[in-house]
Amino acid sequence: MNKITNHMPTAELQALDAAHHMHPFTENAALAKKGARIMKSAKGVWLTDTEGHKIIDGMAGLWCVNIGYGRTELGDVAKRQMDELAYYNTFFQTSHIPAIALAAKIAELAPKGMNRVFFAGSGSEANDTNIRMVRRYWDIKGQSEKRIIIARNNGYHGSTLGGGSLGGMSGIHAHGGKIAGIVHIGEPNWWAQGGEMTPHDFGLLRARELEEKILELGVENVAAFIGEPVQGAGGVIIPPDSYWPEIQRIVDKYGILLIADEVITGFGRTGNWFGSQTFGITPHIMTIAKGLSSGYQPIGGSIVCDEVADVLGSHGDFNHGYTYSGHPVAAAVALKNLEIMQDEKIVEHVRDVANPYLWKLWKGLEEHPLVGEAKLVGLMGSIALTPDKAKRARFASETGTVGYRCRERCFANNLIMRHVGDRMIIAPPLVITPDEIDILIARAKTSLDECYMGLKADGLMVSA
Ligand SMILES: *Cc1c(COP(=O)(O)O)cnc(C)c1O
Repeated sequence: MNKITNHMPTAELQALDAAHHMHPFTENAALAKKGARIMKSAKGVWLTDTEGHKIIDGMAGLWCVNIGYGRTELGDVAKRQMDELAYYNTFFQTSHIPAIALAAKIAELAPKGMNRVFFAGSGSEANDTNIRMVRRYWDIKGQSEKRIIIARNNGYHGSTLGGGSLGGMSGIHAHGGKIAGIVHIGEPNWWAQGGEMTPHDFGLLRARELEEKILELGVENVAAFIGEPVQGAGGVIIPPDSYWPEIQRIVDKYGILLIADEVITGFGRTGNWFGSQTFGITPHIMTIAKGLSSGYQPIGGSIVCDEVADVLGSHGDFNHGYTYSGHPVAAAVALKNLEIMQDEKIVEHVRDVANPYLWKLWKGLEEHPLVGEAKLVGLMGSIALTPDKAKRARFASETGTVGYRCRERCFANNLIMRHVGDRMIIAPPLVITPDEIDILIARAKTSLDECYMGLKADGLMVSA
């Protein structure tokens, strides 16, 4: 076989990709017919594919490239670290400088009382760690029957068997099943499910499902509740203001552990270092990954509050860990990423510049005939597509049909915007500038217009 180079024609790369590469969350046979779009290089918020198209990345890769592409300082740090200490483990009473420095930096940024970090290679792995951690915690406290974790429908916590079980996505459960001891309650998705209720009342209703579930299961059997401050993969569902305070009240009242999955919302995405700060949540554990390294290296982890860390740390070994927990190269790169975030005041940029600028334009999309609601927190946003906004109606076509068509128009217009069902979502790199936001919005409008015309032509602007 030929050596794979950057100069191979796109069609040949696509053929090799189709022949040998199994894509995640993809029907590979269908993709093989169409050919993958192949990315070649990137800088800032701009991707370039092998055909030379300049694409604005409205999704920061998979919600991770927070500082933008092409920051060569990170590569420099990786090279230096590989040359100095490419690998060592942290299992057997050893440590190394990058893991130490990164853990200390994360503790500095994390909310008060959260000073310990357990490293993993990804968000999914970190959530697997969390399952084991919360169960072990209650074991040590002499309450080993407290094992059930309550999570939410349409939540996303990764796609390992543990992470996928915590998640509430039936499509994932259908492929391989789920582990025992995880139960789901409703999600605070007012647009789709709130009916005639106000968002406020609906937020309370959904939060109180947690209390009902605890009482139904018996608090003596419940270890923890897990939720994303804002559901990401579920469609950027920003909960009503009433939701998190009520969840917090219930968690406090029954004394169960609270895990905030901050894999997306962590490291600036919502305009604070953590989504828990934006929503006033006091978790015991926070899951982190993605923006931790801006995607430059695979790394995740759990930030653990002092009480839980103290209990876990003083009753014999915690029998859990990954070969690459705190990998020195990944840790060094993540540390540099966080230093850049701090030095360049990127969280402040999100809060004071990018969010207010984007919000005006994003909210304006509600005037488009296809758009029902537009929601945004920090730099994660969504719009609900609907055939009838007054009724918050769903389309008669199978859910996702319209969203997919809209995404295809975006792709054709060199904008990456993802669809979840018939919601369109964005989470651009946090460094996006007002000028780039203008381009993103212009391309989004063109794509919405084209999608709308296509739907009308095909008779699809019809309510379910
Ligand atoms: C992406 C994601 C995960 C899983 O992270 P991976 O690194 O893909 O394993 C977990 N939780 C949330 C909220 C995520 O968005």
